[in-house]
Amino acid sequence: MRKKIIAGNWKMNKTPSETVTLINQLKPLVATEEADVIFCVPAISLTTAVEAAKGSNIQIGAENMHFEENGAYTGEIAPGMLDDIGVRYVIIGHSERREYFAETDVTVNKKVLKAFEHGITPIVCCGESLTQREQGVTIDFIRQQIKIAFLNVTPDQAKTAVIAYEPIWAIGTGKVATSAQAQEVCKAIRDCIAEIYDTDTAAAIRIQYGGSVTADSAAELFSQPDIDGGLVGGASLKPDFGKIVNYK
Ligand code: PGA
Repeated sequence: MRKKIIAGNWKMNKTPSETVTLINQLKPLVATEEADVIFCVPAISLTTAVEAAKGSNIQIGAENMHFEENGAYTGEIAPGMLDDIGVRYVIIGHSERREYFAETDVTVNKKVLKAFEHGITPIVCCGESLTQREQGVTIDFIRQQIKIAFLNVTPDQAKTAVIAYEPIWAIGTGKVATSAQAQEVCKAIRDCIAEIYDTDTAAAIRIQYGGSVTADSAAELFSQPDIDGGLVGGASLKPDFGKIVNYK
């Protein structure tokens, strides 16, 4: 049985002091043993967030990192820096980073490998555009994203990874995928992992759905056989996130 994993993606929202307030507000609402609960917050708030979450079940994740250990990369955050302050998760290859910051499948793969080197669990994002869905190439496109993201990742590493399936047309639009659409792609992702590795690895890896998840849609989405939780944007900044975590 895979443990559910429900992660908030705060994106570029909340100052460090607002972060403390929101974590304190959400702490009692997301307290559960049944799911892993992750808050991915802006880099400037990571240290504060780790401190604020201490003693609770909330784990803190980053929204991005560089794939180099250090050096002349002005403005970037290295994996070792995240590791040093107790960050245990990192979102890799979110569609907003691919669209606005020119991230590619190849840089995603480099970051995934680096995260594992530092014992940080990558939440590897994939997802098709509306055009790709309409053209019927969704599964082919996502299989390619997954195959490149997992190049040279060992089976033991892959077993601990998290994949977030986020159709781009559903992100921040209020247009949530149907549970059947989400399940179809999450199953295809699991099948792809079984092809790359084996059925044990495919059975262990956790696959989230993301894109306009709300307290109303969470229960149906998360009860699909291949959906192990969610990556939640807008609704993770509100008390509703507690309802999403306790979706049953
Ligand atoms: P949303 O964002 O829930 O606001 O659609 C999800 C995401 O981008 O991770």
